[in-house]
Amino acid sequence: MKAEIIAVGTELLLGQIVNTNAQFLSRACADLGVSVYFQTVVGDNESRLTEAIRIASSRADLVICTGGLGPTQDDLTKDVLAAYTGQKLHIHQPSMDKIEAFFRNRGAHMVESNRRQALMLEGSDPLPNDTGMAVGVALTHEQTHFILLPGPPKEMKPMFERYASVWISAKMGEVRPLYSRMLKFAGIGESLLEHELIDLIQDQTDPTIATYAKEGEVAVRLTTRASSEAEAEKALAPVESEIRSRLGQYIYSNEDIPLEEEIIRLMQNKQLKLAVAESCTGGLVSDLLTAVPGSSAVFQGGIVVYTNEWKNRLLSVPLDVLEGTGAPGAISDVTARLLAENLLKQSDTDYAIAITGVAGPGESEGKPVGLVYIGVAQKRGETVIKQLQLAGNRELIKLRAAKSALYQLWKLL
Ligand code: ATP
Ligand code: MG
Repeated sequence: MKAEIIAVGTELLLGQIVNTNAQFLSRACADLGVSVYFQTVVGDNESRLTEAIRIASSRADLVICTGGLGPTQDDLTKDVLAAYTGQKLHIHQPSMDKIEAFFRNRGAHMVESNRRQALMLEGSDPLPNDTGMAVGVALTHEQTHFILLPGPPKEMKPMFERYASVWISAKMGEVRPLYSRMLKFAGIGESLLEHELIDLIQDQTDPTIATYAKEGEVAVRLTTRASSEAEAEKALAPVESEIRSRLGQYIYSNEDIPLEEEIIRLMQNKQLKLAVAESCTGGLVSDLLTAVPGSSAVFQGGIVVYTNEWKNRLLSVPLDVLEGTGAPGAISDVTARLLAENLLKQSDTDYAIAITGVAGPGESEGKPVGLVYIGVAQKRGETVIKQLQLAGNRELIKLRAAKSALYQLWKLL
Protein backbone atom coordinates (compact mmCIF):
# COMPACT_ATOMS: atom_id res chain seq x y z
CA MET A 1 0.00 0.00 0.00
CA LYS A 2 1.36 3.41 -1.04
CA ALA A 3 0.61 6.36 1.22
CA GLU A 4 0.89 10.13 1.20
CA ILE A 5 0.84 12.27 4.30
CA ILE A 6 -0.69 15.72 4.07
CA ALA A 7 0.00 18.04 6.99
CA VAL A 8 -2.47 20.92 6.93
CA GLY A 9 -1.65 24.24 8.56
CA THR A 10 -0.40 27.67 7.60
CA GLU A 11 1.71 27.67 10.77
CA LEU A 12 3.77 24.84 9.25
CA LEU A 13 4.40 26.81 6.06
CA LEU A 14 5.40 29.88 8.05
CA GLY A 15 7.90 27.83 10.00
CA GLN A 16 6.18 28.54 13.30
CA ILE A 17 5.85 24.85 14.15
CA VAL A 18 7.79 21.78 13.11
CA ASN A 19 5.99 19.03 11.22
CA THR A 20 6.53 16.34 13.82
CA ASN A 21 3.22 14.71 12.85
CA ALA A 22 4.66 13.72 9.48
CA GLN A 23 7.65 12.13 11.15
CA PHE A 24 5.45 10.18 13.56
CA LEU A 25 3.09 9.04 10.81
CA SER A 26 5.87 8.02 8.42
CA ARG A 27 7.39 5.87 11.11
CA ALA A 28 4.07 4.39 12.11
CA CYS A 29 3.28 3.60 8.47
CA ALA A 30 6.63 1.87 8.03
CA ASP A 31 5.83 -0.28 11.05
CA LEU A 32 2.50 -1.22 9.48
CA GLY A 33 4.21 -2.11 6.20
CA VAL A 34 2.70 0.90 4.40
CA SER A 35 5.14 2.67 2.07
CA VAL A 36 5.05 6.46 2.35
CA TYR A 37 6.03 7.94 -1.02
CA PHE A 38 5.22 11.60 -0.42
CA GLN A 39 4.82 14.05 2.46
CA THR A 40 3.01 17.25 1.61
CA VAL A 41 2.44 20.42 3.61
CA VAL A 42 -0.37 22.78 2.66
CA GLY A 43 -1.84 25.85 4.32
CA ASP A 44 -5.35 26.35 5.67
CA ASN A 45 -6.70 27.21 2.26
CA GLU A 46 -9.64 25.54 0.59
CA SER A 47 -8.48 25.46 -2.99
CA ARG A 48 -4.90 24.51 -2.27
CA LEU A 49 -5.98 21.77 0.14
CA THR A 50 -8.36 20.44 -2.51
CA GLU A 51 -5.49 20.42 -4.99
CA ALA A 52 -3.24 18.60 -2.52
CA ILE A 53 -5.91 15.96 -1.92
CA ARG A 54 -6.49 15.56 -5.65
CA ILE A 55 -2.78 15.03 -6.36
CA ALA A 56 -2.36 12.68 -3.42
CA SER A 57 -5.36 10.58 -4.48
CA SER A 58 -3.89 10.23 -7.94
CA ARG A 59 -0.68 8.66 -6.68
CA ALA A 60 -1.44 7.01 -3.34
CA ASP A 61 -3.79 4.30 -2.07
CA LEU A 62 -3.90 5.89 1.35
CA VAL A 63 -4.02 9.62 2.08
CA ILE A 64 -3.49 10.63 5.70
CA CYS A 65 -4.25 14.26 6.62
CA THR A 66 -3.44 15.87 9.95
CA GLY A 67 -4.70 19.22 11.20
CA GLY A 68 -7.71 21.36 10.58
CA LEU A 69 -10.32 19.30 12.45
CA GLY A 70 -10.90 22.00 15.06
CA PRO A 71 -13.91 24.28 15.50
CA THR A 72 -12.63 27.46 13.93
CA GLN A 73 -13.06 29.00 10.49
CA ASP A 74 -9.59 28.00 9.35
CA ASP A 75 -10.26 24.34 10.16
CA LEU A 76 -11.36 23.12 6.76
CA THR A 77 -10.13 19.60 6.25
CA LYS A 78 -13.47 17.81 6.66
CA ASP A 79 -15.31 20.36 4.49
CA VAL A 80 -12.72 20.04 1.75
CA LEU A 81 -12.75 16.24 1.71
CA ALA A 82 -16.57 16.28 1.77
CA ALA A 83 -16.66 18.55 -1.26
CA TYR A 84 -13.96 16.54 -3.02
CA THR A 85 -15.68 13.18 -2.54
CA GLY A 86 -19.23 14.49 -2.77
CA GLN A 87 -20.07 12.93 0.61
CA LYS A 88 -22.32 15.06 2.83
CA LEU A 89 -21.31 16.06 6.35
CA HIS A 90 -23.45 15.03 9.26
CA ILE A 91 -23.17 15.12 13.03
CA HIS A 92 -21.74 12.01 14.69
CA GLN A 93 -24.05 11.79 17.67
CA PRO A 94 -21.71 10.04 20.18
CA SER A 95 -19.09 12.72 19.55
CA MET A 96 -21.71 15.46 19.88
CA ASP A 97 -22.86 13.99 23.19
CA LYS A 98 -19.27 14.01 24.41
CA ILE A 99 -18.73 17.63 23.42
CA GLU A 100 -21.98 18.73 25.07
CA ALA A 101 -21.12 16.82 28.23
CA PHE A 102 -17.71 18.48 28.30
CA PHE A 103 -19.21 21.97 28.23
CA ARG A 104 -21.96 21.03 30.68
CA ASN A 105 -19.45 19.64 33.19
CA ARG A 106 -17.36 22.77 33.01
CA GLY A 107 -20.38 25.02 33.16
CA ALA A 108 -18.99 26.63 30.02
CA HIS A 109 -20.95 28.03 27.14
CA MET A 110 -20.84 25.97 23.96
CA VAL A 111 -20.80 27.96 20.76
CA GLU A 112 -22.23 26.73 17.50
CA SER A 113 -18.77 26.19 15.97
CA ASN A 114 -17.96 23.53 18.56
CA ARG A 115 -20.51 21.31 16.81
CA ARG A 116 -18.17 21.22 13.83
CA GLN A 117 -15.83 18.96 15.77
CA ALA A 118 -18.51 16.25 15.73
CA LEU A 119 -18.88 16.31 11.95
CA MET A 120 -18.36 13.17 9.90
CA LEU A 121 -18.56 12.37 6.23
CA GLU A 122 -21.35 10.14 4.97
CA GLY A 123 -20.16 6.57 4.58
CA SER A 124 -17.09 7.14 6.76
CA ASP A 125 -15.99 5.39 9.94
CA PRO A 126 -15.43 7.51 13.04
CA LEU A 127 -12.01 7.49 14.68
CA PRO A 128 -12.65 8.27 18.35
CA ASN A 129 -10.67 11.06 19.97
CA ASP A 130 -9.82 9.85 23.49
CA THR A 131 -7.76 12.91 24.33
CA GLY A 132 -9.71 15.73 22.67
CA MET A 133 -12.94 16.76 20.98
CA ALA A 134 -12.71 16.47 17.21
CA VAL A 135 -13.72 13.06 15.87
CA GLY A 136 -11.42 11.62 13.22
CA VAL A 137 -12.55 10.26 9.87
CA ALA A 138 -11.70 7.11 7.90
CA LEU A 139 -13.25 6.86 4.47
CA THR A 140 -12.77 4.87 1.30
CA HIS A 141 -13.73 6.73 -1.86
CA GLU A 142 -13.12 5.36 -5.35
CA GLN A 143 -10.43 2.94 -4.09
CA THR A 144 -8.54 5.61 -2.21
CA HIS A 145 -8.48 5.42 1.56
CA PHE A 146 -8.59 8.70 3.48
CA ILE A 147 -7.75 9.24 7.12
CA LEU A 148 -8.32 12.62 8.78
CA LEU A 149 -6.55 13.17 12.08
CA PRO A 150 -6.42 16.21 14.39
CA GLY A 151 -3.33 18.45 14.43
CA PRO A 152 -2.32 18.41 18.11
CA PRO A 153 0.13 15.52 18.52
CA LYS A 154 -1.37 14.47 21.83
CA GLU A 155 -4.68 13.83 20.03
CA MET A 156 -3.26 12.63 16.71
CA LYS A 157 -0.95 9.93 18.11
CA PRO A 158 -3.46 8.01 20.25
CA MET A 159 -6.07 8.28 17.49
CA PHE A 160 -3.64 6.78 15.02
CA GLU A 161 -2.27 4.10 17.32
CA ARG A 162 -5.62 2.97 18.75
CA TYR A 163 -7.99 3.36 15.79
CA ALA A 164 -6.55 4.47 12.46
CA SER A 165 -3.83 1.79 12.38
CA VAL A 166 -6.43 -0.93 12.97
CA TRP A 167 -8.61 0.48 10.20
CA ILE A 168 -5.65 0.65 7.80
CA SER A 169 -4.51 -2.89 8.62
CA ALA A 170 -8.01 -4.18 7.90
CA LYS A 171 -7.98 -2.40 4.53
CA MET A 172 -4.61 -3.88 3.71
CA GLY A 173 -6.12 -7.31 4.16
CA GLU A 174 -3.64 -10.11 4.20
CA VAL A 175 -0.50 -8.11 3.74
CA ARG A 176 2.55 -9.83 5.13
CA PRO A 177 4.44 -7.93 7.81
CA LEU A 178 7.94 -6.53 7.43
CA TYR A 179 10.94 -8.21 9.00
CA SER A 180 14.23 -6.40 9.17
CA ARG A 181 17.75 -6.93 10.41
CA MET A 182 20.43 -4.38 11.21
CA LEU A 183 24.06 -5.17 10.57
CA LYS A 184 26.24 -2.77 12.53
CA PHE A 185 29.68 -1.82 11.23
CA ALA A 186 32.75 -0.25 12.80
CA GLY A 187 36.01 0.87 11.24
CA ILE A 188 34.49 1.59 7.84
CA GLY A 189 32.84 4.73 6.47
CA GLU A 190 29.46 4.86 4.78
CA SER A 191 30.78 5.65 1.31
CA LEU A 192 33.26 2.76 1.29
CA LEU A 193 30.57 0.47 2.69
CA GLU A 194 28.19 1.47 -0.07
CA HIS A 195 30.92 1.09 -2.66
CA GLU A 196 31.56 -2.49 -1.57
CA LEU A 197 27.86 -3.35 -1.71
CA ILE A 198 26.77 -1.20 -4.62
CA ASP A 199 25.83 -4.10 -6.90
CA LEU A 200 23.68 -5.64 -4.17
CA ILE A 201 22.06 -2.28 -3.39
CA GLN A 202 21.32 -1.53 -7.03
CA ASP A 203 19.89 -4.96 -7.84
CA GLN A 204 17.87 -5.20 -4.66
CA THR A 205 14.27 -6.28 -4.86
CA ASP A 206 13.68 -8.50 -1.89
CA PRO A 207 15.14 -8.10 0.69
CA THR A 208 15.75 -4.39 0.35
CA ILE A 209 19.18 -3.15 1.44
CA ALA A 210 19.75 0.32 2.85
CA THR A 211 22.80 1.90 4.46
CA TYR A 212 22.51 4.23 7.43
CA ALA A 213 25.11 6.48 8.99
CA LYS A 214 24.96 8.12 12.35
CA GLU A 215 28.00 9.88 13.71
CA GLY A 216 30.72 7.34 14.25
CA GLU A 217 28.49 4.41 13.26
CA VAL A 218 27.37 2.80 10.05
CA ALA A 219 24.65 0.22 9.56
CA VAL A 220 23.00 -1.80 6.85
CA ARG A 221 19.35 -2.66 7.17
CA LEU A 222 17.88 -5.66 5.35
CA THR A 223 14.12 -5.76 5.07
CA THR A 224 11.73 -8.33 3.68
CA ARG A 225 8.06 -9.23 3.81
CA ALA A 226 7.21 -12.68 5.09
CA SER A 227 4.43 -14.57 6.77
CA SER A 228 6.68 -15.99 9.47
CA GLU A 229 10.03 -15.47 11.16
CA ALA A 230 11.33 -18.64 9.48
CA GLU A 231 10.30 -17.45 6.03
CA ALA A 232 11.92 -14.08 6.69
CA GLU A 233 15.11 -15.84 7.80
CA LYS A 234 15.19 -17.72 4.50
CA ALA A 235 15.11 -14.46 2.56
CA LEU A 236 17.50 -12.51 4.81
CA ALA A 237 20.16 -15.16 5.48
CA PRO A 238 21.71 -15.43 1.98
CA VAL A 239 22.00 -11.64 1.66
CA GLU A 240 23.47 -11.33 5.11
CA SER A 241 26.06 -14.00 4.37
CA GLU A 242 26.99 -12.36 1.07
CA ILE A 243 27.58 -9.08 2.94
CA ARG A 244 29.55 -10.92 5.61
CA SER A 245 31.75 -12.57 3.01
CA ARG A 246 32.71 -9.14 1.69
CA LEU A 247 32.87 -7.04 4.87
CA GLY A 248 32.66 -9.48 7.76
CA GLN A 249 35.68 -8.04 9.54
CA TYR A 250 33.81 -4.77 10.13
CA ILE A 251 30.51 -6.24 11.36
CA TYR A 252 30.29 -6.21 15.12
CA SER A 253 26.63 -7.04 15.57
CA ASN A 254 23.42 -8.03 13.83
CA GLU A 255 21.44 -6.13 16.42
CA ASP A 256 20.97 -2.38 16.56
CA ILE A 257 23.37 -1.73 19.44
CA PRO A 258 26.34 0.66 19.72
CA LEU A 259 29.90 -0.66 19.56
CA GLU A 260 30.57 0.08 23.22
CA GLU A 261 27.68 -2.18 24.24
CA GLU A 262 29.09 -5.03 22.18
CA ILE A 263 32.52 -4.48 23.76
CA ILE A 264 31.11 -4.58 27.27
CA ARG A 265 29.18 -7.75 26.40
CA LEU A 266 32.24 -9.48 24.91
CA MET A 267 34.53 -8.48 27.77
CA GLN A 268 32.01 -9.43 30.42
CA ASN A 269 31.64 -12.90 28.89
CA LYS A 270 35.41 -13.34 28.96
CA GLN A 271 35.71 -11.67 32.38
CA LEU A 272 38.11 -9.05 31.08
CA LYS A 273 38.79 -5.62 32.59
CA LEU A 274 39.42 -2.32 30.87
CA ALA A 275 40.99 1.05 31.71
CA VAL A 276 41.14 4.21 29.60
CA ALA A 277 43.54 7.17 29.38
CA GLU A 278 42.22 10.04 27.28
CA SER A 279 43.73 13.28 26.12
CA CYS A 280 41.94 14.86 23.14
CA THR A 281 38.66 12.96 23.72
CA GLY A 282 38.40 14.44 27.21
CA GLY A 283 36.58 11.48 28.77
CA LEU A 284 34.30 10.65 25.87
CA VAL A 285 35.35 6.99 25.70
CA SER A 286 34.62 6.64 29.41
CA ASP A 287 31.30 8.36 28.86
CA LEU A 288 30.32 5.99 26.04
CA LEU A 289 31.32 2.94 28.04
CA THR A 290 29.51 4.00 31.19
CA ALA A 291 26.33 4.65 29.20
CA VAL A 292 26.05 0.85 28.89
CA PRO A 293 24.15 -0.64 31.85
CA GLY A 294 26.31 -3.10 33.75
CA SER A 295 29.56 -1.64 32.40
CA SER A 296 31.13 -1.65 35.87
CA ALA A 297 31.79 -5.37 35.49
CA VAL A 298 34.31 -4.45 32.79
CA PHE A 299 35.22 -0.77 32.88
CA GLN A 300 37.49 -0.06 35.85
CA GLY A 301 37.97 3.64 35.25
CA GLY A 302 39.40 6.34 33.06
CA ILE A 303 41.79 9.24 33.46
CA VAL A 304 41.76 12.41 31.43
CA VAL A 305 45.42 13.35 31.10
CA TYR A 306 45.00 16.54 29.15
CA THR A 307 48.16 18.50 29.82
CA ASN A 308 51.72 17.31 29.42
CA GLU A 309 52.17 17.78 33.13
CA TRP A 310 49.41 15.32 33.89
CA LYS A 311 50.60 12.84 31.26
CA ASN A 312 53.92 12.94 33.06
CA ARG A 313 52.72 13.05 36.65
CA LEU A 314 49.87 10.52 36.46
CA LEU A 315 51.07 8.16 33.77
CA SER A 316 54.82 8.66 33.89
CA VAL A 317 55.34 9.74 30.31
CA PRO A 318 58.87 11.29 30.45
CA LEU A 319 58.90 15.04 29.91
CA ASP A 320 61.63 14.71 27.32
CA VAL A 321 59.25 12.56 25.26
CA LEU A 322 56.48 15.14 25.57
CA GLU A 323 58.33 18.38 24.86
CA GLY A 324 61.48 19.92 23.55
CA THR A 325 63.03 20.13 20.11
CA GLY A 326 63.28 16.78 18.47
CA ALA A 327 61.00 15.13 21.08
CA PRO A 328 58.16 12.97 19.67
CA GLY A 329 55.65 15.21 21.50
CA ALA A 330 52.34 14.54 23.23
CA ILE A 331 50.68 13.75 19.92
CA SER A 332 52.79 10.81 18.84
CA ASP A 333 52.85 7.04 18.66
CA VAL A 334 55.46 7.01 21.43
CA THR A 335 53.19 8.89 23.83
CA ALA A 336 50.14 6.79 22.91
CA ARG A 337 52.15 3.65 23.64
CA LEU A 338 53.52 4.91 26.97
CA LEU A 339 50.11 6.09 28.13
CA ALA A 340 48.50 2.75 27.31
CA GLU A 341 51.28 0.56 28.69
CA ASN A 342 51.80 2.58 31.88
CA LEU A 343 48.07 2.62 32.53
CA LEU A 344 47.88 -1.13 31.99
CA LYS A 345 50.60 -1.65 34.60
CA GLN A 346 49.08 0.73 37.12
CA SER A 347 45.51 -0.45 36.75
CA ASP A 348 46.25 -4.17 36.46
CA THR A 349 43.53 -4.56 33.83
CA ASP A 350 43.54 -6.84 30.79
CA TYR A 351 43.35 -3.95 28.32
CA ALA A 352 44.17 -0.25 28.44
CA ILE A 353 43.20 2.24 25.77
CA ALA A 354 45.04 5.55 25.24
CA ILE A 355 44.06 8.39 22.91
CA THR A 356 46.07 11.48 22.07
CA GLY A 357 45.51 13.81 19.14
CA VAL A 358 44.56 17.22 17.75
CA ALA A 359 40.81 17.91 17.99
CA GLY A 360 41.22 21.39 16.56
CA PRO A 361 40.23 24.00 15.55
CA GLY A 362 43.92 24.94 15.42
CA GLU A 363 46.96 22.71 14.99
CA SER A 364 49.02 21.65 17.96
CA GLU A 365 52.75 20.92 18.20
CA GLY A 366 52.76 21.87 14.53
CA LYS A 367 50.64 18.79 13.84
CA PRO A 368 47.46 18.96 11.74
CA VAL A 369 43.91 18.98 13.05
CA GLY A 370 42.48 15.46 13.09
CA LEU A 371 45.79 13.65 13.65
CA VAL A 372 45.08 11.08 16.35
CA TYR A 373 47.11 8.24 17.87
CA ILE A 374 45.39 5.34 19.56
CA GLY A 375 47.19 2.82 21.70
CA VAL A 376 45.72 -0.38 23.05
CA ALA A 377 47.93 -2.24 25.51
CA GLN A 378 47.05 -5.79 26.46
CA LYS A 379 48.16 -8.07 29.27
CA ARG A 380 48.62 -11.01 26.93
CA GLY A 381 49.98 -9.58 23.71
CA GLU A 382 51.69 -6.75 21.93
CA THR A 383 50.53 -3.15 22.23
CA VAL A 384 48.70 -1.98 19.12
CA ILE A 385 49.28 1.59 17.91
CA LYS A 386 47.15 3.21 15.26
CA GLN A 387 47.66 6.56 13.58
CA LEU A 388 44.54 8.20 12.12
CA GLN A 389 43.84 11.34 10.17
CA LEU A 390 40.21 12.20 11.01
CA ALA A 391 37.98 14.78 9.40
CA GLY A 392 35.37 17.05 10.96
CA ASN A 393 35.03 19.81 13.51
CA ARG A 394 36.25 19.54 17.09
CA GLU A 395 33.17 17.70 18.32
CA LEU A 396 33.20 15.23 15.43
CA ILE A 397 36.89 14.51 15.70
CA LYS A 398 36.45 13.73 19.38
CA LEU A 399 33.58 11.35 18.63
CA ARG A 400 35.35 9.70 15.71
CA ALA A 401 38.53 9.28 17.73
CA ALA A 402 36.56 7.72 20.58
CA LYS A 403 34.75 5.31 18.27
CA SER A 404 37.98 4.45 16.46
CA ALA A 405 39.66 3.61 19.75
CA LEU A 406 36.76 1.33 20.64
CA TYR A 407 37.06 -0.27 17.20
CA GLN A 408 40.77 -1.03 17.78
CA LEU A 409 39.90 -2.69 21.06
CA TRP A 410 37.03 -4.64 19.49
CA LYS A 411 39.37 -6.01 16.80
CA LEU A 412 41.67 -7.40 19.48
CA LEU A 413 38.74 -8.96 21.34
P1 ATP B 1 -7.47 22.33 17.09
O1 ATP B 1 -8.72 21.72 17.58
O2 ATP B 1 -6.43 22.49 18.17
O3 ATP B 1 -7.67 23.53 16.25
P2 ATP B 1 -6.83 20.98 14.61
O4 ATP B 1 -7.08 19.55 14.31
O5 ATP B 1 -7.69 21.99 13.94
O6 ATP B 1 -6.81 21.15 16.16
P3 ATP B 1 -4.67 22.60 13.78
O7 ATP B 1 -5.55 23.76 14.10
O8 ATP B 1 -4.24 22.42 12.38
O9 ATP B 1 -5.33 21.24 14.24
O10 ATP B 1 -3.39 22.59 14.70
C1 ATP B 1 -3.53 22.74 16.10
C2 ATP B 1 -2.19 22.61 16.76
O11 ATP B 1 -1.67 21.28 16.61
C3 ATP B 1 -1.10 23.48 16.16
O12 ATP B 1 -1.10 24.76 16.70
C4 ATP B 1 0.16 22.72 16.52
O13 ATP B 1 0.52 22.99 17.84
C5 ATP B 1 -0.28 21.30 16.41
N1 ATP B 1 0.01 20.75 15.08
C6 ATP B 1 -0.75 20.86 13.98
N2 ATP B 1 -0.20 20.25 12.92
C7 ATP B 1 0.97 19.74 13.34
C8 ATP B 1 2.01 18.99 12.72
N3 ATP B 1 1.95 18.64 11.43
N4 ATP B 1 3.08 18.62 13.47
C9 ATP B 1 3.12 18.97 14.77
N5 ATP B 1 2.18 19.67 15.41
C10 ATP B 1 1.11 20.07 14.73
MG1 MG C 1 -7.43 24.19 14.38
